[in-house]
Amino acid sequence: MKRVVILGCTGSIGSTAIQAIRDLKLQVEVVGLSAHSNEEKLVQLALELSCKAICLTARHCTPYPGLSVFSGVTGLKEMLASLDADVVLNGIAGFDGLKASLLTLEQGFDLALANKESVVCGGSYLFEVARQHKSRIIPVDSEHSALAELIKGRDTNEIGSLILTGSGGPFRTLASDAFGHITVEQALAHPTWKMGKKISIDSATLANKALEVIEASYLFALPAEKIEVVIHPQSIVHSMIRHRDGAVYAQMGPPDMTLPIVNALVDGSVSLVRPLDFTNLNLTFEQPDYQRFPLLGLAFSILERKGGSALAFNAADEVAVHAFLERRCTYLKMIRAIEKTLERSWQVAPSSFEETLELDKEARELTRSFL
Ligand code: NDP
Ligand code: MG
Repeated sequence: MKRVVILGCTGSIGSTAIQAIRDLKLQVEVVGLSAHSNEEKLVQLALELSCKAICLTARHCTPYPGLSVFSGVTGLKEMLASLDADVVLNGIAGFDGLKASLLTLEQGFDLALANKESVVCGGSYLFEVARQHKSRIIPVDSEHSALAELIKGRDTNEIGSLILTGSGGPFRTLASDAFGHITVEQALAHPTWKMGKKISIDSATLANKALEVIEASYLFALPAEKIEVVIHPQSIVHSMIRHRDGAVYAQMGPPDMTLPIVNALVDGSVSLVRPLDFTNLNLTFEQPDYQRFPLLGLAFSILERKGGSALAFNAADEVAVHAFLERRCTYLKMIRAIEKTLERSWQVAPSSFEETLELDKEARELTRSFL
């Protein structure tokens, strides 16, 4: 029986994980849970899952009989240190997920990583911490989970390139001159995936695919020229690898985060409830439009520039998306603020968490000045 901690248990990834544990009767024991501010749901889930330790990161958590209650980021560290866990699912949204990933790895636990910001912002030192503490980083992002499965047992020298698929989001076919009128509601309406707000907006701008290109480069130690992106509106092919001999291998399944989450939490196969129906499949693929979706192209230049630009990109994107969600700027202003932030060189790569915090703050302030 694997002992599992779920960070961000009240969100989209956390809820899918809990539903899978319930519906598929996974052989796991949930030993710790965290949420940011949704205390009521956190406690309700702890009682339902017979989990004894909880942490509320945004503020003080009320004591509850029978539960070990922790508060804040310090509390998260204390909770993880108090637990005997095998794997921690990081389903926290945004840059704050990086600290949680580092705390997990420092405890020597395996990290089932949905929080792509950890890889984008933590870069090489995240992997160094994992190596030092002999912890594994298991990707949960559907594309990277698919790639990890496809790469398993293969000689990486045989891989010509990784092909990340993306649905293209709600504006895939929108004319260029209509981008000035995009509303928050339209941007949140993802055609194939149901997710949290931030990642939904990122899927509309293709910033999510940009973050995933950077994530793939770090996770699989491959340069920008070995990563391709193809638009695949049906979200059935989760990603592919192109072999040097010309063969292309794909992983397919319904657009559902259950499988990548389950694969990261338990070893061995599980019978999933929704098998793929081939009789109704009509799969299409197209090139991404880098003109209408300029943030995707930025990912490749960020990988070539190295330094702190991936971190600056993430910071700019978080600030600009937040402003757009709060209706403080238009869709186009959000995109432009991110581009303008990346016009600076961001040459220095942070080599510690403290340096990361400083650079993140600097990038956020710059982006705010453009909004
Ligand atoms: P949601 O917004 O749905 O959920 C976020 C979770 O994190 C909630 O439990 C929330 O708690 C908690 N949280 C929010 N802010 C903080 C913070 N500052 N510190 C600690 N905890 C926090 O996000 P998603 O589940 O959609 O995404 C989570 C991560 O997984 C993101 O990095 C995303 O990119 C990635 N991902 C998501 C996918 C999806 O299908 N949703 C697919 C692939 C990757 P509370 O509810 O109390 O606010
Ligand atoms: Mg993804």
